[in-house]
Amino acid sequence: MNLSQKILLLCLALATPLCQAQPDITVDASPAIPATPDPAIAHALETIQPSRIQETIDTLIRFGTRSTLSSMEMDLPPGKGINAAADWIAAQFDEISKQCGGCLEVHRDTFIADPASGGPWAGRIPRPTRITSIYAILRGTDPVQARRMYLVTGHYDSRNSNILDARGAAPGANDDASGVAVSLECARALTQLRFPATLVFAAVAGEEQGLLGSAHLAHLAREQNWNLEAVLNNDIVGGDTTPGDTLQLKNRVRVFSEGIPEAATPQQIRRIRALGKESDSPSRELARAIADTARTYFASPKSRPFSAFLVFRPDRYLRGGDHSSFNHEGFAAVRLTEWRENYNHQHQNVVMPVAGSGAPALGDLAQFVDFSYVARVARLNAATLATLASSPGPPAHLRILARKLENGTTLHWQPPAGAGPPVHYELLWRETFAPDWQFMRVIRPQAPSAPVDVTVPISKDNVIFGVRSVDAEGHRSLVAVP
Ligand SMILES: [Zn+2]
Repeated sequence: MNLSQKILLLCLALATPLCQAQPDITVDASPAIPATPDPAIAHALETIQPSRIQETIDTLIRFGTRSTLSSMEMDLPPGKGINAAADWIAAQFDEISKQCGGCLEVHRDTFIADPASGGPWAGRIPRPTRITSIYAILRGTDPVQARRMYLVTGHYDSRNSNILDARGAAPGANDDASGVAVSLECARALTQLRFPATLVFAAVAGEEQGLLGSAHLAHLAREQNWNLEAVLNNDIVGGDTTPGDTLQLKNRVRVFSEGIPEAATPQQIRRIRALGKESDSPSRELARAIADTARTYFASPKSRPFSAFLVFRPDRYLRGGDHSSFNHEGFAAVRLTEWRENYNHQHQNVVMPVAGSGAPALGDLAQFVDFSYVARVARLNAATLATLASSPGPPAHLRILARKLENGTTLHWQPPAGAGPPVHYELLWRETFAPDWQFMRVIRPQAPSAPVDVTVPISKDNVIFGVRSVDAEGHRSLVAVP
């Protein structure tokens, strides 16, 4: 059977886009199929369990309030308020580090937010307020590749109906103890392994007050020249479970990503417009990489399949999140959020209904969180971080050579910095109106460190091309687009 017969069979079997595409788009193509799971990563994912996620969320609730403003209330009972929560989270990272022989560097990013400095959020901070974000670094093992960093974050501050209430109960079980649990579980699971690139596990404060902690951390990352390739922000990943709600879906998580980067210069925006790259920002390639990882690790019909549902917009209507702080500083960053939110269980004072009244319970309580769902989101985060940190990193200086009018396409790129052999590449492409990569071709370089030139008889006018690097074990990098 020749290749085109194989493709025909595949497309009949899977109803892939190959069936519908023009033949000259599918020359020597295979469908963009998932990678093979890495057994070591799969084993680490299995250690992420709902019971410990429940412990984390219950513990965070017991601080009473994690309002960022409570950091300045000096007469709270011991063990209450956001400062106590910060200490507990830092202690968790310290404990995880102890288990791996001190593999984590645990940091606090503390600063005073001052309303006198103005800004749109000044009204949410009545007085100078201490904000502390905690982050733990698992440094990469390869001296060159350790420069690449991948960060997972959630916000540990909470709020109730009154954004200025520094003392009233604000359990914040789903928003966003669930996201903090994801960061902690990723740290626990992934410190069992070692990666050539660097991972960062974060819990930030000041989100509800206006993304203050993440803005400070993203700025610090920029100032310190972090080569931060990806930020996964988990905010409201509890899989709200309300009796009688039939519309919640537990087999997916939404992944929001910006199209045109917020930090793009006018010149970059002109180029994006000219080349039709509105849906190929680094954040969007990150979103596609998460969806790809889900297909690799969680698509098996033997277990319950779990997928990333890509939403091509920065965030939900009327809402914001910490990924935007990283987008603002020019980093690829996305938001993961449950399928269907219940607004009775967010940003609300806790009100339990009178029995028989039929009124809904209000408040962000643990009883509405599905800990198994949070575990599945955590596993998807951990699988994505592990894959990207194991990968050789994206190819460098990828270009389409377009010196004259022609119907074929020639691409040129350099190997990723510091990648050891044997690295190969996957040339990917898709129709311009397709949301995700459809076709691929494996490219083996002449020599491990040699630049690559590839010419294909497919018109660059009709498709979007991308290239990713792959190591011998099949770990895929983020996709670079020319
Ligand atoms: Zn939130």
